[in-house]
Amino acid sequence: MNKNLLMKKIGENIDNLIQNNPPKRSLGDLIPLSIFQAVRIGILTTGCGIEAIIYNIGKDIGKNVISNYINGNSLNEILKDFAEILKKAKIGKLEIEKINEKENEIILILKECVSCYNAPNVGTTLCHFEAGLISGTLEKLLKRKVKVIETKCCGKGDEYCEFYVKIGEKIYW
Ligand SMILES: [Zn+2]
Repeated sequence: MNKNLLMKKIGENIDNLIQNNPPKRSLGDLIPLSIFQAVRIGILTTGCGIEAIIYNIGKDIGKNVISNYINGNSLNEILKDFAEILKKAKIGKLEIEKINEKENEIILILKECVSCYNAPNVGTTLCHFEAGLISGTLEKLLKRKVKVIETKCCGKGDEYCEFYVKIGEKIYW
């Protein structure tokens, strides 16, 4: 499978969302959240290690697509632009809970998350894709390793997602 073609397609879709272009498909681009979530939760139940695969898919898209739409320079500006894209792409409403520059830690909140909003309490976090998306986007823009762990999630009975972001050493590429 050609991953670049896939990334190009996602980029085109994001462009259309930003420019409010009508979708090509006469039925529209949207599917019911519950169907999407059922597929996501179904995939997660197929075995251990799936979480890391889904995280890496999000990371790839963050690195190769989402980061291209962010112009901000400071961490605050980057997160503000990132929140705009996530809203346009209907992934969720991102808020900054806390930035601890000294410790290189950020706490982010994602409300109305596409992967877990209104999902049943299945006793576990569900938003590995979104965690990966945050990681990949910030890694590309900050040129530093970024590890993201979801600490709250509707999937375990919380009202929204919360992500712990740890910014690590510089990446040279
Ligand atoms: Zn979640």
